[in-house]
Amino acid sequence: MYKPDMIPVNPLPKQPPRWQALWRDAIREPQALLDLLGLSHLSHRVSAEAAAQFALRVPRGFVARMKHGDPDDPLLRQVLPLIDETYSAPGFTLDAVGDLQSSAANGVLHKYQGRALLVTTGSCAVHCRYCFRRHFPYAEQTAAANDWEPALAALAADTSIHEVLLSGGDPLSLSTGKLAQLSEQLRDLAHIRRLRIHTRLPIVLPERVDDELLAWLSGLPWPCAMVVHANHGNELDENVLAAFARLRRSGVNLLNQSVLLKGVNDSVTALAELSERLFAGGVLPYYLHQLDRVNGAAHFEVDDTRALALHAQLGAKLPGYLVPRLVREVAGAPAKLPLASIAAPTHHVTDSRYSV
Ligand SMILES: *Cc1c(COP(=O)(O)O)cnc(C)c1O
Ligand code: SF4
Repeated sequence: MYKPDMIPVNPLPKQPPRWQALWRDAIREPQALLDLLGLSHLSHRVSAEAAAQFALRVPRGFVARMKHGDPDDPLLRQVLPLIDETYSAPGFTLDAVGDLQSSAANGVLHKYQGRALLVTTGSCAVHCRYCFRRHFPYAEQTAAANDWEPALAALAADTSIHEVLLSGGDPLSLSTGKLAQLSEQLRDLAHIRRLRIHTRLPIVLPERVDDELLAWLSGLPWPCAMVVHANHGNELDENVLAAFARLRRSGVNLLNQSVLLKGVNDSVTALAELSERLFAGGVLPYYLHQLDRVNGAAHFEVDDTRALALHAQLGAKLPGYLVPRLVREVAGAPAKLPLASIAAPTHHVTDSRYSV
């Protein structure tokens, strides 16, 4: 029977959460990754230079969803530093989306009306080779620095901001305590109406969605949207679906954003399968991004004409709510722009549907 005197006087120090151990246990050596997948003979396709610039990092649980012996596995392609990254390509730059122009020292990016994005941290559990932030100078510019103070001051000073977006890096790479420190102080700002979290962690390390995180989320005073990031249906295994279910029970609205990536998801079949599996897990597709033209990512690019054609075919196959908006980020634009409104006109259209 329970008795108060059974409480130990000096409880052991709290164990760090399990997800942090899994985080540290991530694969960081290209050769180790290839060996695990039975692809040791592919080491000549790996670039040490690319890996030195942006290190390989992938949690073991994500590797477990890759197909053994398949060099073209769509999950592997997202994380393996290939020789292709070292080829320069015209139009691909270090700051593809103009973040360096609009960034502030406090880690707050205010590009769109009513919404401010906090670059909370530079850390991610996985390093995605196509990531537009691979060249971002995080050290100087994260909002979590100095107990969020400069970021909070910027948010407090601008009452036109109604939505705070936690991004990064991956905001859920911060401890839940650090996130709670932010939300506690945000409570005092009457103009904040919504919180949004952009994170890939529920996909690549679903153990991050633990009881502590769920308790924090369900105690938030604002409606909360979480935009996860999966590019291929194979990323959504049982553990990920269970994490989605826990998030939904905590009142979180789940959306997904993907990047259109050559060799990963550039087929109607792959995109439709992704949307179907997301919806089965209670997640609505939100954005399909046309690749940001960042140095080292040219081998992932799908040209605009093909991207639009794929998107149109997806629209013909699925209900509208399962078709993500195909957008491109254009530096200086007031929002992410539908690709259809900005793509250079094509002169190759021979499809009879378009003739008069
Ligand atoms: C993408 C982005 C947002 C969010 O845009 P939505 O269209 O609301 O999803 C907000 N701020 C910045 C700086 C962004 O890059
Ligand atoms: S998790 Fe997101 S921010 Fe981190 S490397 Fe991948 S795409 Fe970039």
